[in-house]
Amino acid sequence: MGETFKAIQVSRDEEKNQSVDIVELVTDDLMEGDVLIEVEATTVNYKDGLAITGKSPVVRHWPMVPGVDLAGTVIECSSGAFKTGDKVLLNGFGVGETHWGAYAGRARLKSDWLISLPEGFTAKQAMGIGTAGYTAMLCVMALERNELTPDSGPIIVTGANGGVGTVAISILSKLGFDVIASTGRASEAGFLKELGASEIIDRNELSEPGRPLGKERWAGAVDAVGSHTLANLLAQTKYGGTVAACGLAQGFDLPATVMPFILRNVTLAGIDSVMAPKVLREEAWQRLARDLDVSKLDALTTEIGFDDIIRTATDIVDGKVRGRVIVDMKA
Ligand code: NDP
Repeated sequence: MGETFKAIQVSRDEEKNQSVDIVELVTDDLMEGDVLIEVEATTVNYKDGLAITGKSPVVRHWPMVPGVDLAGTVIECSSGAFKTGDKVLLNGFGVGETHWGAYAGRARLKSDWLISLPEGFTAKQAMGIGTAGYTAMLCVMALERNELTPDSGPIIVTGANGGVGTVAISILSKLGFDVIASTGRASEAGFLKELGASEIIDRNELSEPGRPLGKERWAGAVDAVGSHTLANLLAQTKYGGTVAACGLAQGFDLPATVMPFILRNVTLAGIDSVMAPKVLREEAWQRLARDLDVSKLDALTTEIGFDDIIRTATDIVDGKVRGRVIVDMKA
């Protein structure tokens, strides 16, 4: 049976009551796949928080080992895509939702889901970025595809203190954009300015029902919040601007009108990281290696060990986590 390793397992009883346990597994327990990985580092995303707390139906196969992101070393690969010792990276593809994921010493996955760990990143640095950071990059790429440049005007980032928000601010400021950060944590204004925000606004300005069109304030937006916030972002976007929507921290509704689209030529770009095709993932990670100031990663990451994952999952859902969390699986 081989050596055992620790894992977090989410289970459900007949009444659909969820429980979370730390269990010992062996490799034979893992789900099917063509590549076996030793997990070196992972992270806690908002989605992982939802999976562990059961606050939203992220888990769709029971029992589940949660964890949507991992970086590690290939132990064996039968598809030929990777060789033993290769450093690899996984973001999404239903891992931690329908396929056992990162919160275990080992993971057996499909090699198609993996990319090589980008040059210049350690496993822990890649997890400092994680799905949240790679989604931030996908959002920035969507703004660029619609031809936004620093000359177009400021970009607003909502959920500024979160994982997507902090990385988006860092990338956009490095690219020369003027960044407005929208946050509920005014006490973190200094931190957000250090990351590169030039202006901080209170998220309450955007979170209530607003007018169909308002004063044109920004050329684009990276929105991790949804609901009235997204509607107000659209209503205050300049003519021809683009709003990249990736999140639902306020809510999954979108109480908006068509006015920004039909009168201001505003584009609403939807961003999904989970099923994004491999070429887009590889491009996003190459861009992260180039356009994210790695020295800023230290400022926006907190490192924890395996035993802290469950507590951190609750904290992220309660909005208590700033920036990104790295889990050192060897700690
Ligand atoms: P975090 O929890 O790290 O950050 C979310 C931030 O949103 C918080 O830090 C807070 O920022 C703000 N926020 C929280 N609650 C509210 C609220 N009620 N109203 C307004 N703002 C709020 O999460 P992530 O950054 O990892 O993810 C952000 C969102 O993006 C989530 O909804 C997540 O599910 C989604 N996501 C989507 C992906 C995709 O593929 N589309 C991939 C990754 C994430 P502050 O304190 O500064 O106000």
